[in-house]
Amino acid sequence: MNTISFADLKLAPEILKSLTESGYTTPTPIQAQAIPLVLEGSDLMAGAQTGTGKTAAFSLPMLQMLLPHASSSTSPARHPVRALILVPTRELAIQVEESVKVYAKHTHLRSLVVFGGVDIKTQTPTLKRGVEILVATPGRLLDHIEMKSVQLNQVQMLVLDEADRMLDMGFMPDLKRILALLPKQRQNLMFSATFSAEIKKLSSEFLTRPKLIEVARSNATSENVTQKVYLVEQADKHAFLAQLLRGSDATQVLVFTKTKLTAGHLARQLQRDGVAADAIHGDKTQLERMQALEAFKNGKVTVLIGTDVAARGLDIDQLPMVINYEIPHAPEDYVHRIGRTGRAGASGAAISLVSPEEERYLAEIEKLIKHEIQKEKAVVTHAAKTGRAPRGEHHERATRGEHTERTHAPRASAPKKTSHDPWFDKPYEPGAGSFPAAAKQPEQAAEKPKKQVAALFVRKQS
Ligand code: AMP
Repeated sequence: MNTISFADLKLAPEILKSLTESGYTTPTPIQAQAIPLVLEGSDLMAGAQTGTGKTAAFSLPMLQMLLPHASSSTSPARHPVRALILVPTRELAIQVEESVKVYAKHTHLRSLVVFGGVDIKTQTPTLKRGVEILVATPGRLLDHIEMKSVQLNQVQMLVLDEADRMLDMGFMPDLKRILALLPKQRQNLMFSATFSAEIKKLSSEFLTRPKLIEVARSNATSENVTQKVYLVEQADKHAFLAQLLRGSDATQVLVFTKTKLTAGHLARQLQRDGVAADAIHGDKTQLERMQALEAFKNGKVTVLIGTDVAARGLDIDQLPMVINYEIPHAPEDYVHRIGRTGRAGASGAAISLVSPEEERYLAEIEKLIKHEIQKEKAVVTHAAKTGRAPRGEHHERATRGEHTERTHAPRASAPKKTSHDPWFDKPYEPGAGSFPAAAKQPEQAAEKPKKQVAALFVRKQS
């Protein structure tokens, strides 16, 4: 059992205070390992998926290292960029910076996030006022460098977060340009969910004698996530998904599709079925994406549909369920996707709808995760095929804001008996071990007294 406390890691009182306020009691394994190494000044190559607490693993020691430079002065000269955190997506950028801000709130250290897709002029004034910690997507950072709105000659710490995804997204040339502008003498931290040959090459180029840490097997799926596959014809997937959603009380479900087109199309189909669904993908404006995410976080939207790139980096507390509407062709993406649930010790469920054509990709996934996933043939009911939507009225009203309370009374219009799987009748109780694997880590599961997500699949319809 991990009995180390944050105080044992020698973090400063002002940082400890914000952690206590955030409800963190115990460091996660990646934090327990990374924090001492970063504090001693080592470069780091860390294998950790999103959901392991990796953001705090680099931001907490970063803040501690920068504390001697904290200044209450308003002069921009007293607030040069000292730490640069590069991330692949805007959503991740926003979330990382939100965390940094929370952890730094009792210090005079300033942070800012810059990403593309929004008017650059809105970011420039704050940047010019000076920030110690800059979180950025590579392209937009280069724009700011060109506009001379930022100077990087005081950077003493660099973090490459989700480095594997940065490479996948073709950021290598941008990264090289940025890295050439940084002081040679600096500390480098690299985080990656997978350890491909390219990642190893990147680490040998940019890191100096890095300490290597890995919290789970690099391609391992979280033990807290219960995985299940439904074998279903492609043409029946929409009806089956609607049936699954209808037969449940899931309040937050993230659904993955392979393409933006399918994401948008599916969102519209589900809306017609009366499900409060929305899509989040790269073709939407930044504002639309932020609004969709916000609506999902506050419960107005219960089903968020996205592609791998769009959903990457979404951090939603205790997201109970992920559904793969289509399974990814790159098996690593499966690991990333289901990393959205079962975070920081909470339990979660990952369901994949697999058509006969997709079965060979499923085999590759199972090979990668070294685990056979429980499979079942989907039974699509007639009601689902004809698109009857017993929950439609409720959801339509809910999305219009007329009735936002979820009713737990039996619904009169509910179908008599859907093909029910007892697996779905298990109550979802965050941290209470409702799924078998969650019971393995009760102390971690109880660690996070954050906003609770309501019950999942709690009631059998009669
Ligand atoms: P990350 O892997 O950085 O995306 O973090 C996943 C989630 O775990 C975030 O919602 C964090 O707020 C939460 N978290 C990080 N560290 C801890 C901790 N020590 N105790 C409880 N929750 C944590």
